[in-house]
Amino acid sequence: MGRRSRKRYRRPIVRRVRPLPKVFRCPACGHNTLHITMKEYVDEEGYTKKRAEIRCTNPECGLRAYMEDLPPIYEPVDVYAKFIDAYEEGTIEVEFQPMVTEEGEGEGE
Ligand SMILES: [Zn+2]
Repeated sequence: MGRRSRKRYRRPIVRRVRPLPKVFRCPACGHNTLHITMKEYVDEEGYTKKRAEIRCTNPECGLRAYMEDLPPIYEPVDVYAKFIDAYEEGTIEVEFQPMVTEEGEGEGE
């Protein structure tokens, strides 16, 4: 078998150590302003669980949601994936608390 061109070395993929993202794309407004904060807690049966607060910091959106009863291994990325599913299925309660001032908002629907 003839060799075609020279042996090509595939460069190893440079793996950058990147911190786990904590800011995500908001499904409501589409901005990368969705923050997920998590806290561990112990439920009534003594199991360690995590609770997540999902908050969009875009002042015009102000999405807010909470998720509880999450496995303790969950990271914000996992919560985000779960949240997106729930959001699309409409199985999560989502509040909007926009911080827009009334000023200059003359345009109705
Ligand atoms: Zn948003």
